[in-house]
Amino acid sequence: MFRVGVGWDRHRLEPGRLCTLGGVRFADCPVGPLGHSDGDAVVHAVIDALLGAAGLGDIGRHFPDTDPAWAGADSLDLLARSRAKLAAAGWRVVNVDITLIAQRPTIAPRAAAMAAAMAGPLRVEPALVSVKGTSGEGLGPEGRGECVTALAVALLTEAGAAESGG
Ligand code: MG
Repeated sequence: MFRVGVGWDRHRLEPGRLCTLGGVRFADCPVGPLGHSDGDAVVHAVIDALLGAAGLGDIGRHFPDTDPAWAGADSLDLLARSRAKLAAAGWRVVNVDITLIAQRPTIAPRAAAMAAAMAGPLRVEPALVSVKGTSGEGLGPEGRGECVTALAVALLTEAGAAESGG
């Protein structure tokens, strides 16, 4: 059996925030996503796609932004925790496809690094994590560089007994 899920997240960009997207640090970016955690909209969209596919709710249910435990959280850690919840429910990840809409930072040169960063916690090959960037053509809040928005689709399949651990 397969299950598909979709995720969407948007974070405002503010000066002086570290910029981490898809688990990759953009050290040269003068703005970064505002958030209770590290604000990594890409990973948050992936988490929502995974949880949605498994029928396990959403990121806010599992990692509420009212809980100090998740203040400044590394979203890759939340991703690993989410994958473990899927495994406990009998699911494993087949593939993930992501579109990141951002005027800044520039995504394409770091897309492969993002895929590799997320593949580890997802326990899949990097080739099964697709990251695509688009600028928004200067339109809307993404195009004005005010925010980043990420869309993700995830496909799950039933985990075999040997694959469901952890
Ligand atoms: Mg978020």
